[in-house]
Amino acid sequence: MSRMVNPVRVAVIGSGPAGLYAAEALVKQTDGNVRVDVLDRLPTPYGLVRYGVAPDHKSIKSIARYLQKVLEDPAVRFLGRIELGRDITRADLLDCYDAVIYATGAMVDRHMGIPGEDLPGSVAATDFVNWYCGHPDAADHDFDLSVEEVAVIGVGNVAVDVVRILAKTAEELRDTDVPEHVIEALSRSRVKRVHMIGRRGPAQAKFTTKEARELGDLANAGIHVSPADMDLDPASAALAESDRHVRGNVKVLGGWTAEPPARPRRIDVRFWRAPVEIIGTGRVEGLRLERTRLDEAGRVTGTGEFETLPVGMVLRSVGYKSVALDGVPFDERACTVPNEAGRITGPDGAPVPREYVAGWLKRGPTGVVGTNKSDAAETVTHLLADLAGASTPPKRSIDDLIESRGLPVVTYADWLNLDAAEIALARALERGERVKLARWDAMCDACRPPK
Ligand code: NAP
Repeated sequence: MSRMVNPVRVAVIGSGPAGLYAAEALVKQTDGNVRVDVLDRLPTPYGLVRYGVAPDHKSIKSIARYLQKVLEDPAVRFLGRIELGRDITRADLLDCYDAVIYATGAMVDRHMGIPGEDLPGSVAATDFVNWYCGHPDAADHDFDLSVEEVAVIGVGNVAVDVVRILAKTAEELRDTDVPEHVIEALSRSRVKRVHMIGRRGPAQAKFTTKEARELGDLANAGIHVSPADMDLDPASAALAESDRHVRGNVKVLGGWTAEPPARPRRIDVRFWRAPVEIIGTGRVEGLRLERTRLDEAGRVTGTGEFETLPVGMVLRSVGYKSVALDGVPFDERACTVPNEAGRITGPDGAPVPREYVAGWLKRGPTGVVGTNKSDAAETVTHLLADLAGASTPPKRSIDDLIESRGLPVVTYADWLNLDAAEIALARALERGERVKLARWDAMCDACRPPK
């Protein structure tokens, strides 16, 4: 691409994988002739790579090293601790940039809509994940791990992560970046049994076979699936023949039908059970489940048989959803920003000029981290085609705006100070490569250490 006199200026909102892959695509597709500001409400970059990927999944976590190179490109700046809607508005962004890409992900949990869901002890997997990942908004969450039995609802990859963290010992997590106060809380855990509940059958489990296999390999927990739960209706049996993912899952699950060896903890994977009520007076004391089957149309339907599990905590891991951004079109049913291949569309279906979307906010919470790379590249291709190299002088400068509002922006250099503090903490505690700082004040102090 020929050099433009005025490089296109783009704001990317959100520094998770979707946002940073978008920044990378902007640099690559313009041969570096672009100015990208990546804004995030947190003082830390990498979004779900830092706050969603499980701490013991170190190879996935290492994607941060790849994303770091994007932030180190001279065409890219990180502007942390700026929150859209609180510190700046959509109108400000459109005044300061040629185009905006929203990539704020999907950080809110879905509800099941059953009685008792608001009882103490009924919690969202997102909160639990945020807590053990050291998200500053979850630093003071308190999970009652004095209970002996826990139910995790859902059979997706997040449910598997949560079950694994509950089943491991705190000692097994010591070489990860889990904050120290979380390690202490986990070391006091009295949990003995974790039930993972699928409302459909083994052929409909959404977790990947690799993730499932990891549960079977845990040293601290035995795993069991009742042989009756492995029953497959004809359509599911056909799927297990034709679909590699389903075949792999069914094979792994089928290997867990014998009574497991005695271990300190036990995982029971239960299929064909839909949660109907969380029971308790003042706090969770049980989970009522209805047996299910699939009808002719493949829909899950109740059989009228019920059972109650004596659990003291229920963790719902039934999916994430995005939240609407002030002034940006939002589809309340799909919980995504309406778009055509990344171009945001308005209520009339026509593209909204200069505004784009990438990642989970664009397509919903699906896929793995790498899925966001091609997804972001598609958005960027359309953005650059629409702008056709035209950069108009901004109405305002983002730097002036930040200064006039006194926003305490965290720069990439500031983040590197926090990064170094976490690495130093790990060394001092004789734990792994990094121990996360999880409290806002500690994080912000580490960004600007005294000279
Ligand atoms: P998910 O894969 O959509 O799984 C949600 C689970 O919740 C499904 O089993 C679903 O069952 C169940 N569910 C939904 N509503 C329910 C209800 N009302 N009652 C009972 N069960 C209900 O979502 P996720 O686990 O949150 O994962 C989100 C995305 O992140 C996925 O793309 C996932 O692969 C990705 N991720 C990947 C990794 C990894 O690769 N290691 C780790 C974490 C997350 P139905 O199928 O019956 O709806």
